[in-house]
Amino acid sequence: MDLKARVRDVPDFPKPGILFKDIMPLLADPPAFAFAVDALCARYTAADIDVIAAAEARGFLFAAPMAIQMKKPLIPLRKPGKLPGATRSFKYDLEYGSAELHVHADAIRAGSRVLVVDDVLATGGTMAAACQLVEHAGGAVIGCAFLIELAFLNGRAPLAGRDIFSLLTY
Ligand code: 5GP
Repeated sequence: MDLKARVRDVPDFPKPGILFKDIMPLLADPPAFAFAVDALCARYTAADIDVIAAAEARGFLFAAPMAIQMKKPLIPLRKPGKLPGATRSFKYDLEYGSAELHVHADAIRAGSRVLVVDDVLATGGTMAAACQLVEHAGGAVIGCAFLIELAFLNGRAPLAGRDIFSLLTY
């Protein structure tokens, strides 16, 4: 299955000079979407995983079907103001300004083995923050899974020491 044929390059989005990888054609193609989810799950068949976590928003698109297929609880890591219960949070720096991810304080049991999923690994800032939030909440990150890795942005650097898997590399 040629998944790369279902990822569209969009020049100058969201800012001039950025070549955005648009995964909407892949999501709109059920056999391709299923193939991608199956392949991501296959990488972890032998892994000891308790829960799957993902950062808002596009990570949810892959983490949710993976959680169903792997029969694991899904834990959404959300932007501020979205979760109704008491939360733990982690603030991190972006190129301009900062962002924050929250998780329900009781969502992750101490020592839980967590697989963290996102659609794209770019600079690694989002995944690094997601992993630190999971750890702050008491979980142990056992892996980071991506549909796409933009290798030229060196997103593995802030994730040094972590187990990283990406299905498609550019
Ligand atoms: P990072 O924090 O690694 O720089 O950026 C990763 C986050 O930004 C991911 O959550 C992803 O959804 C989004 N992102 C960054 N670049 C792209 C891109 O080219 N295509 C898509 N679909 N998402 C991107």
